[in-house]
Amino acid sequence: MNILVVNAGSSSLKYQLIDTTTDVVSAKGICERIGMDGSLIEHKQIAKGLKTKELSPMKDHADAMKMVVKYLTDAEYGCIKDMNEIQAIGHRVVHGGAFFSGSILMTEDVLEKLELCREFAPLHTVAHLMGIRGCLEIMPEKPQVLVFDTAFHQTMAPEAYIYALPYEYYEKYGIRRYGMHGTSHRYVSGEMAKLLDKPVEDTKIVTCHIGNGSSITAVKGGKVVDTSMGFTPLAGVEMGTRCGDIDPAIVPYIMDKENLSGAQINDIMNKKSGFLGITGVSSDSRDVEDAIAAGPENPNYEKALLAVNILKHQIKKYIGSYAAVMNGLDAVVFTAGIGENSIMLREMVCEDLEFFGIELDKDANKLAFRRSEATKISKDGSRVSVYVIPTNEELVIARDTAAIVSAL
Ligand code: AMP
Repeated sequence: MNILVVNAGSSSLKYQLIDTTTDVVSAKGICERIGMDGSLIEHKQIAKGLKTKELSPMKDHADAMKMVVKYLTDAEYGCIKDMNEIQAIGHRVVHGGAFFSGSILMTEDVLEKLELCREFAPLHTVAHLMGIRGCLEIMPEKPQVLVFDTAFHQTMAPEAYIYALPYEYYEKYGIRRYGMHGTSHRYVSGEMAKLLDKPVEDTKIVTCHIGNGSSITAVKGGKVVDTSMGFTPLAGVEMGTRCGDIDPAIVPYIMDKENLSGAQINDIMNKKSGFLGITGVSSDSRDVEDAIAAGPENPNYEKALLAVNILKHQIKKYIGSYAAVMNGLDAVVFTAGIGENSIMLREMVCEDLEFFGIELDKDANKLAFRRSEATKISKDGSRVSVYVIPTNEELVIARDTAAIVSAL
């Protein structure tokens, strides 16, 4: 089945056309600066290895979808004759609140519920709604499926998702742990479970999605029992520009000392903290690692090392606490931009975890870089397997969409 996977942001729309019978991506691209001057589409036709770009006014997401259709069906850059060759559209949706514990066919009722999730992730949800409505406008008869980043985490028990605040805030405002990156955690934990020599119900896996945004999840028997992100994607480990978990009392303390509003401190914790806040130089782990590689003479060396050491320390703590929560551990998986590519971070995290049965194969770890397949980086005798598994959220979205549409 040919599925068009759409990831709509507030001024961008990424897309991939995936054949779910072969898992092959035939085309992909991005529309940028939607609703602004200078909007453009960048499109790749994978089989022919062709790339193109066009500047074209796109006032909204419906205009962007028209451009996507134009390029998918283009005689030279396209890969289909017309849109009848696409059976359905699958959308990435960042936050489904507690309404959605799985992927779902889009209906007016579903869109009404999604509107209610706006408060949890305002920018993303508004963008997704624009993307969905843009598709509806130009292809009203095409089935659309919504795949939520929060859905995989809905299996957590109340003791993992309720905060010890007055209970009425959970009841009145839905304040609880939701978790993020669920589609990625679901994909890599599923791939990892297939590699373990035991039934899925018996597997205990910690998945470390470490990128610009990072989250760590405990997956027991194929179900999430805990995850590091919380009510918002600010929680958990240190990230590119986000602080992760801190003592909550620091927030009013800094507000008072620096005379900041709630919005200002929120901005600092989300955009000026993490790697950027510690190093003062960059949020990008490549820059941070380069500063470390330049050696102690480099003025940024110490802060860069501190930034990575903080992240290492936190990831270790999550692995340990999640092994305790699951009463065991079969595998640890690294994924996303940093997890898939940072040889240094993986080595730092896995060092001194022999007590846990984690023994890293340093040579295998060095070779696991920009690989497209799952790669084992633990020693053969290691009680806990450690793998690098490239994430593929688009494939999960395409597969869920195909499964839902086939059952119609
Ligand atoms: P993501 O959010 O998953 O796209 O990941 C983005 C992060 O991955 C950025 O901090 C990048 O610097 C990081 N990244 C990508 N390639 C590498 C690499 N070769 N070594 C270290 N970090 C990398």
